Amino acid sequence: MYKLVCFDVDGTLIDNTASIWHVFHRHFRVDERIRNDAIRGYKSGKITYEEWAMHDVMLWHKMGKQRSDFISAMVSSKLRLMDGAMDTLSALRKRGMKLVIISGSISIVLEHLLPRYQEIFDDVFISHIHFDDKGGISSLKATEYDMEGKATALRKVALKHGVSVNECVFVGDNTNDVGVAKEAGLSIAFNPKDKSLVEASDIVITCADISRILPHILG
Ligand SMILES: [Mg+2]
Repeated sequence: MYKLVCFDVDGTLIDNTASIWHVFHRHFRVDERIRNDAIRGYKSGKITYEEWAMHDVMLWHKMGKQRSDFISAMVSSKLRLMDGAMDTLSALRKRGMKLVIISGSISIVLEHLLPRYQEIFDDVFISHIHFDDKGGISSLKATEYDMEGKATALRKVALKHGVSVNECVFVGDNTNDVGVAKEAGLSIAFNPKDKSLVEASDIVITCADISRILPHILG
């Protein structure tokens, strides 16, 4: 009965992080007061999501961080694909499901851990950091579809593929997934980090193997 499955990235398809932004900030030892000012600015509505993302990426840019530094941060934080991720994606594909990413994560994570992601997923909503030939940060394209925007992305992608949101599944782990979890026909909280997502979801899975979602989707 389900035709399209949307995944969050950090903490859902990728293990050992709840936020890649936090991984990079921590690894690069970014001043917490400066970061927290921007978080407060976003939460109070003083700055937009895009301005918040640009603010944080500019901090890394000013520190001269290169593509290789981002890779080192992911390696030393032991980021990896969630157990069962490849088998799960291929099982869903075999059953004809459209696969979508709706995430506030950053493209370099997928480039590093799931390099074929553009072949595997029909649509990818994520923030992109671009690097120049020497490895320096050249630009940022922040996603418009994090937080409440995740539900907008779900409606957009359902329309594109000619399915109803009731035929869509969403799998996520954190507070930024609450809005989309309420919207999807089947919402799965995967190792949820917050009670609000548990309450908004149809199913809760507490096990670090994402293939546990399959029986709920495929029946
Ligand atoms: Mg997440």
